[in-house]
Amino acid sequence: MDKIVLASGNAGKLKEFSQLFSGWQIAVLPQSDFLEQEADETGLSFIENALIKARHASRASGLPALADDSGLAVDALGGAPGIYSARYAGAGASDEDNNRKLLEALEDVPAKERSAAFHCALAFVRSADDPVPLVCTAHWSGQILTRPAGDQGFGYDPLFYVPSEKLTSAQLPREVKNRLSHRAQAVKKFEQLWHEEMVLPEKQRHADSGKKVI
Ligand code: IMP
Repeated sequence: MDKIVLASGNAGKLKEFSQLFSGWQIAVLPQSDFLEQEADETGLSFIENALIKARHASRASGLPALADDSGLAVDALGGAPGIYSARYAGAGASDEDNNRKLLEALEDVPAKERSAAFHCALAFVRSADDPVPLVCTAHWSGQILTRPAGDQGFGYDPLFYVPSEKLTSAQLPREVKNRLSHRAQAVKKFEQLWHEEMVLPEKQRHADSGKKVI
């Protein structure tokens, strides 16, 4: 396997993924090379939506596909916006619209109750109907500020304060976000899983094919 499709149309995510996969021996192609219509995210969890997106991209491209579904869960809002993070302020909402809505929803919530976490689910399918996909998840904990700070990254980054760094995710140098984030941690787990499920069995097959069968 030398090519996989990355099932995301989000420019911010694609940029991060290209950095996170830079050391891999595999070409990671954007799904925009293969499909016009994005998948309908009808699942109730990040994992379900990641699988829907991966299968959709694999079906359109005929290639193995990796999808990320991610979002922000705010404790004081019962986990919202959650899987609806991209469309929190409505279909087609901009990052600014979503951030404004989040600040309004948290208007009366004091600082010590503004805990939140970014979640990321990664799903990899070898083919559209792969019955044993590779799936892993990770999260990144922080606090929601009362006003945005920083101009890097995307989505809710300007409102997401990272206590260990004393900066928002939009103020962090990219290499730091790419070490700490939910997506970075999920990619690290995926790398391990990939090695166990894809690389080692392939090596074993090669080794076995060289053996004499008695
Ligand atoms: P998805 O493309 O359906 O997975 O939606 C992901 C949404 O979650 C994005 O549009 C952002 O609003 C939010 N999100 C996910 N990851 C991040 C991140 O690393 N920083 C900021 N916002 C994020």
